Amino acid sequence: MTSSRTLILIKPDGVRRGFVGEVLSRLERKGYALDALKVIPPNVEKLEEHYAEHAGKSFFPGVISYMSSGPIVAIVASGSGVIEGFRALAGATNPADAAPGTIRGDFAQAPSGGPIENLVHGSDSADSAEREISIWFPEL
Ligand code: GDP
Ligand code: MG
Repeated sequence: MTSSRTLILIKPDGVRRGFVGEVLSRLERKGYALDALKVIPPNVEKLEEHYAEHAGKSFFPGVISYMSSGPIVAIVASGSGVIEGFRALAGATNPADAAPGTIRGDFAQAPSGGPIENLVHGSDSADSAEREISIWFPEL
């Protein structure tokens, strides 16, 4: 498999709870390259663009409010199979379903009424990755 790249976000709960190092460490231990990394203050406009596929869904306002509740860390990582590989490291969307050993399975709890707080985002396809990288890293 040739090298590809993905867009990773450490969400506000991940930054707030001190999991930036843990997420970076898991990426590095897997052997993925860090191509770019920045801390980004809350930005509703960019978040609405990032989550455009979910616009109109019942959970959309909650996700935007959750994602703009504090700074996030944006990362471009590359490596063989990194798009699927990082989603495997992240685990299932709902921490209640995420296996132990995954980031969400190890460090996040089942939602209790509000938005699903699950620590990290990872692009779900090559097209999504390029679209999302252009939102958070227009200079790349
Ligand atoms: P992901 O690709 O695994 O992050 O999941 P999605 O793209 O489906 O959803 C984006 C984000 O919206 C998730 O990571 C959650 O933070 C949140 N989310 C997704 N589905 C739901 C839902 O059914 N209810 C709520 N409250 N939040 C959701
Ligand atoms: Mg998604």
